[in-house]
Amino acid sequence: MDRPHRGPTGPDLASGAHVTAGTVTGKIIEARDLYLSFGETPALRGASLVVERGEIVAVMGPSGSGKSTLLHCLAGILVPDRGEAWFAGQRLDRLSDDRRSALRRDQFGFVFQSGQLVPELTAEENVALPLLLSGTRRGPAMAAARTWFATLGLDGLERRRSGELSGGQAQRVALARGLVAGPQVLFADEPTGSLDSVSGELVMDLLTAAVRKRGTTVILVTHDARIAAYADREVIVRDGKVSTLTGATP
Ligand code: ADP
Repeated sequence: MDRPHRGPTGPDLASGAHVTAGTVTGKIIEARDLYLSFGETPALRGASLVVERGEIVAVMGPSGSGKSTLLHCLAGILVPDRGEAWFAGQRLDRLSDDRRSALRRDQFGFVFQSGQLVPELTAEENVALPLLLSGTRRGPAMAAARTWFATLGLDGLERRRSGELSGGQAQRVALARGLVAGPQVLFADEPTGSLDSVSGELVMDLLTAAVRKRGTTVILVTHDARIAAYADREVIVRDGKVSTLTGATP
């Protein structure tokens, strides 16, 4: 069962919420005038976005507006037809497939709408997966994975398989998997989209506490204003272009 909701600034989660101040800042991600079509269907039409290191940016907008496509271009999953996608001074769209895969594995974490846990593996094995894939030995990988269970209120669920977890628990396991390797950027595409609002807000409480403590940058795609409210800044994607909702500079 999910724990009761304590609100985004619950006492035990607020600690460490501001440690990004004073850590390395500056631009980490940039999309410059991205265009991408799927056959005849344009998904991005001149999308531009700059994200600062340590920022949590919510990407909102109507269904089909290009949010996921933008996230996939910034994460090096898709290569735009035109424009530039930058990560930490490197042009992702110019890297080979192998180098983009390595970058995703080493620098990025991912959480999607419905956890996509591997059903044959236990919860702790699912969390350890990114470490195992990047060559960490099983013992240390499993030990690192287990440290996340208490942090995310999942104590005692280490050996469960995904079919034996609630939706909220499975998303917290997926969140641990996304963060276990210490990514620079966490890409979250509707991470609470399959949850009720209480479970969704708990996932967001835990996500924001964990990333603020580590200074992790987050690109969060959501259509839910309550989820976007956890971000430092919201941008809107409409017809494949990005516009700023709040924090606009004249
Ligand atoms: P959003 O995330 O805002 O819902 P998407 O980025 O998923 O929007 O989609 C943008 C547009 O691109 C939509 O018209 C969608 O139908 C289309 N699209 C997205 N992915 C594919 C795909 N793999 N093949 C064909 N069309 C796609």
